[in-house]
Amino acid sequence: MRILGVETTCDETSVAIVENGQEVLYEFTLSQAKKHSRYGGVVPELAAREHVKNLQGLLPELIEVVDKYNPHAVAVAAKIGLPPAVKTGEAFARGLAAGLGVELIEVNHVIAHIWGVWLEPSIKPKPQFPLLGVIVSGGHTMIIRFKSPTEFEVLGTTEDDAIGEVFDKVARELGLGYPGGPKIETLAKLGDEFAIELPIPLADVKDIRLSFAGLKTATINLYRNLCQKTYKEYKEFLKQDVAASFQRVAFLHLIANVEKAIEKTGLHTVVLGGGVSANQRLIDLLAQRLDPAKVQLYIPPLRYTGDNAALIAGYAYAMSNYQDVVT
Ligand code: AMP
Ligand code: MG
Repeated sequence: MRILGVETTCDETSVAIVENGQEVLYEFTLSQAKKHSRYGGVVPELAAREHVKNLQGLLPELIEVVDKYNPHAVAVAAKIGLPPAVKTGEAFARGLAAGLGVELIEVNHVIAHIWGVWLEPSIKPKPQFPLLGVIVSGGHTMIIRFKSPTEFEVLGTTEDDAIGEVFDKVARELGLGYPGGPKIETLAKLGDEFAIELPIPLADVKDIRLSFAGLKTATINLYRNLCQKTYKEYKEFLKQDVAASFQRVAFLHLIANVEKAIEKTGLHTVVLGGGVSANQRLIDLLAQRLDPAKVQLYIPPLRYTGDNAALIAGYAYAMSNYQDVVT
């Protein structure tokens, strides 16, 4: 079964066709990050206008692709996301489905983030359900117990800012631009993770609880203070140390909660997804902290960490054909 996916929830315009939930036959993904960088974050109305422009530009190619692959259904990342941006994709997908005379499947793109691992052919065997999903993106931070792709329970979600959002805000303060995550990661490689003392959020709490806003404020305030006391020539080093220390603490807080979820559920399969899972330091820290003899960690391929229509099409298939994709 071939599903055509559409994703426009944030700043990626993406259309893909996926066969049986796993084989990507066609993919078009255009990031608008450069258009938003001067504003330090995604501007919803601008994102919507760009989606319309990009989708219109894609139409001639898409008509050929649809002719070639004859999709059996259209899936769209619906409801959750920046409302004006989401609506452009919904309208486009609805029109496509009606034109093709096929079913329209609405997908929760936050949950679909776990599907990256299923799209990577070299990851074999695929994770088995039940499992823990860890979704770390620009808008969400969630630890989820999945009984199956569609039966899940959110064990913990951020009480304030999402982890990716905090990377973006700290990056903005350091003058690095948007999107901040990759820029913090690059700068952090040059810095000392232990140079700046920042408290790990909710360190003494036993329950699964995630919060990143306090860490963001503490990092920004500390940086501003230290900046005043630092000679101009040393400011670059200060930024490197702040980036490295902030990154480490943000990840240790997340990982502490993943450990609590493992403890609570007894599940030992952990699947990562979302834009922040592109971060190699996060992957290294997870591998260090979670005992590989006990925990099987699945990392999505880089190209499917962020928002992407292949995730939408793949997960849409799993929503109705679960047995096919897990065995
Ligand atoms: P998404 O919301 O899934 O599209 O992911 C976008 C978010 O992921 C943004 O907040 C980015 O700053 C963040 N991100 C992307 N790459 C990295 C990275 N290497 N390290 C940390 N955060 C990242
Ligand atoms: Mg994005």
